[in-house]
Amino acid sequence: MLRGTVMDAGTDFSATKAQFDLPAGVIYLDGNSLGPLPEGAAERVATMMREEWGQRLIRGWNDAGWMAAPERIGDRIAPLVGAAAGTVTMGDTLSIKMFQALAAALDLRPERKVVLSDDGNFPTDLYMARGLIDTLGRGHELRIVAPEAVEEAIDDSVAVLMLTEVDYRTGRLHDMARLTAKAHAAGALAVWDLAHSAGALPIDLAGAGADFAAGCTYKYLNGGPGAPAFIYVAPRWADVARPALSGWLGHAAPFAFDLDYRPGAGVSRMRVGTPPIIGLAALDAALDVWDGVRLADIRRASIALCERFIAEVEARCPALTLASPRDPAQRGSQVSFRHPQGYAICQALIARGVIGDFRAPDALRFGFAPLYIDEADVLAAVVVLEAVMSEALWDRPEYRTRARVT
Ligand SMILES: *Cc1c(COP(=O)(O)O)cnc(C)c1O
Repeated sequence: MLRGTVMDAGTDFSATKAQFDLPAGVIYLDGNSLGPLPEGAAERVATMMREEWGQRLIRGWNDAGWMAAPERIGDRIAPLVGAAAGTVTMGDTLSIKMFQALAAALDLRPERKVVLSDDGNFPTDLYMARGLIDTLGRGHELRIVAPEAVEEAIDDSVAVLMLTEVDYRTGRLHDMARLTAKAHAAGALAVWDLAHSAGALPIDLAGAGADFAAGCTYKYLNGGPGAPAFIYVAPRWADVARPALSGWLGHAAPFAFDLDYRPGAGVSRMRVGTPPIIGLAALDAALDVWDGVRLADIRRASIALCERFIAEVEARCPALTLASPRDPAQRGSQVSFRHPQGYAICQALIARGVIGDFRAPDALRFGFAPLYIDEADVLAAVVVLEAVMSEALWDRPEYRTRARVT
């Protein structure tokens, strides 16, 4: 019956699963928020610290390739997001890279004043947009509509369409190609946030014609807490985009120490200051896990895992309401359920080794990364969730106290 055929038997991820150091007794369904530690990363960082930093000291900037690391690692991210080599660089955090991308895009449409986004966007993107608008002081407007209303709201007043492809709360997936084409037809530019897409599903930035994009590397790419972000600039803008945060390492000749700023060639102008070499070393090792992995296989397996999870939870936990789109084609690699006691339920699950997370006001969120999660994990997680729900194991005061990070 359906059950047997839903799972994808075609791809075996046991080799990638073996590369993760998950604690015993834990089912990790929160890799959409912080990917787990790939075994090679701890070793790589230790070696980098001892041999490169320790022994080469400042010579490492040249001898160990530290200065070139942002572009070299950008070229490893590029195929995961459908970008050509030389169009992605690394550094800073996603909030900062979104600020730069939006600033550069607004500059390319100086006669227009509207930034269009949606209310499913992650707040930092909206905060950064507001901050930029205030700093510019040129009368821009941040127009926020419902995700379903975005397409219709694209008109010739819009300078930049700024969207997150996968909604962090519900997993709802925007159609990047279609919305980008619509933006372009209206004379606007499109800036995409790939936080919950990179490593979760196939992305085709070049094919979709995206103008700018940025993403973090600590979610599905497993680069570690605070891992450096990436930014993509379409080749047609690479040599005209103004980076806004015009730091010395985006300068054409940083070590000429000119008093005047001259942006560097291509995407490198989006670099700001000294790159985070230790974080880049961890990320570099984490990207080794992707060697030989096809995103189409990830997507197929992720859909199978999410479908199985939804079917089991709906059959066994009737008090939980699906908050994610039911159609897998409209969903990223995460599934959310609503419940008024979502926070306490989440804490009860974590206490029993099933790690998901909670997003206010009432969403229990579970991420499914086929690199290290399989069908057995899904079924074991549902057994725990069913017990938590049917026996009201969440109903204890200590599960209601909100921690600083939820
Ligand atoms: C996780 C996330 C961020 C986080 O930004 P940081 O600067 O890395 O803290 C930004 N945008 C979206 C859509 C996210 O999901």
